[in-house]
Amino acid sequence: MSDTARKDSPEQAAFRAHCRDWLAANMPPPSPVRLPQSALEIMTREQLDYLSAWQKAAYDAGLVGCDYPVEHGGGGRADCQRVANEEMQRSGAPYFPNIIGLGMAAPTVFYHGSDALKRQVLPALLSGEEIWCQGFSEPGAGSDLASVQTFAERRGDRWVINGHKVWTSLAHFASWMILLARTDKSSKYDGLSYFVVPIRAALGKGVTVRPLIKMTGETGFNEVLFEDLEIDDGLRLDEVGKGWTVAMTTLAHERGAGILVTPQSGGSRRGDGDAGLVSALVELARQSWRNGQCAADDPVIRDRLAQLLVREEGFRLNLKRARVAGLTDHPMRLALQYKLLMSEIAQEAGRLGMDIAGNAGSLYVSDPAAPHAGRWPLAYMNSFGFTIAAGTSEVQRNILGERVLGLAKTK
Ligand SMILES: Cc1cc2nc3c(=O)[nH]c(=O)nc-3n(C[C@H](O)[C@H](O)[C@H](O)COP(=O)(O)OP(=O)(O)OC[C@H]3O[C@@H](n4cnc5c(N)ncnc54)[C@H](O)[C@@H]3O)c2cc1C
Repeated sequence: MSDTARKDSPEQAAFRAHCRDWLAANMPPPSPVRLPQSALEIMTREQLDYLSAWQKAAYDAGLVGCDYPVEHGGGGRADCQRVANEEMQRSGAPYFPNIIGLGMAAPTVFYHGSDALKRQVLPALLSGEEIWCQGFSEPGAGSDLASVQTFAERRGDRWVINGHKVWTSLAHFASWMILLARTDKSSKYDGLSYFVVPIRAALGKGVTVRPLIKMTGETGFNEVLFEDLEIDDGLRLDEVGKGWTVAMTTLAHERGAGILVTPQSGGSRRGDGDAGLVSALVELARQSWRNGQCAADDPVIRDRLAQLLVREEGFRLNLKRARVAGLTDHPMRLALQYKLLMSEIAQEAGRLGMDIAGNAGSLYVSDPAAPHAGRWPLAYMNSFGFTIAAGTSEVQRNILGERVLGLAKTK
């Protein structure tokens, strides 16, 4: 019996057995097309269809949205999403495509949306039939998010939106966007309001989505332009002028609060068919040559692998500690460290993969001779995005310093 299973309530234990049985009988076949390393790099309709079918099947079986109320499309359970996620991770199931919807939009709509809005949008979000994206960043507003200039002007019970969002992951497939917009130019924080916007229905009618190509050659994110897009006031979350408070709910989930219930990302099966970072690196070292010997026998490589293994294990144990009240001095200490550490470990792993592969690390995904089907150059390049997305590492350190350690505020 696993550590986690030992602490299950009777309801959780029965639900865990259901998840295990269902996963054992319903694991999808391997994807007919190459999948990207994460949902943020989904590029083609075939990739999306495969992953969406998986999310829908898992939702229909009760493994997604377990803790949301039944009337909002959920399973009506208590603290069971964590159990489903653990079982999906353990089984090596594929990840879900609606990562922004599940991880950020759903909790934000749930805490701040009207009952009618929750009934309208949550069921198709949880099932993955409608993909969501996040319209926060702009060309002049990233780390300083409260500077957003996209403007929503009130006209009766409608809002007219004009502006320019950028780095909008998944917007090329998204039906909905969570949008932070300015509704009052005279106040920085109190001049912001928060909306959910049906962008797919408005394509060519006030919304333009333009893919941006990353250095990996993938088109994971986009810029989104709004030109006189009209939406109903019913799509606003919370009060006018309370957008910053609502955005804090989204950011708390994006930056790590979600680990307290385990992120709803689905399983661990990756596009390149391998789950564990360090074990994949050890395998790569055994297959690679360096300075005339097997890379796995090189003392420098062995030392770096051991250091990474220790960090990864420490990270895993910290995640467990985060869920036990009283084991940390500050409720957000470990949650806020999560994104910072996870992205830095991913970057170190990508760098080590490139160093072990040596010359072969220059062979890309399309090259049949590339080690591990070209996983390492992709992992290395994408890892830089992890330390920028959802708040850069510098900004995360500022937040930890100010909110957890109580240091003076940065200017
Ligand atoms: C892979 C990826 C996916 C993304 N997806 C989305 C998405 O779906 N939706 C969305 O809205 N945005 C998305 N983003 C954008 C992301 O949120 C921003 O890139 C991020 O907030 C940083 O903003 P910026 O790029 O404007 O950099 P800037 O804010 O201009 O920062 C530039 C540099 O200055 C440093 N800096 C800035 N302020 C401070 C400070 N106070 N103290 C110390 N250093 C500071 C930063 O650390 C950085 O090194 C994504 C980004 C990436 C990389």
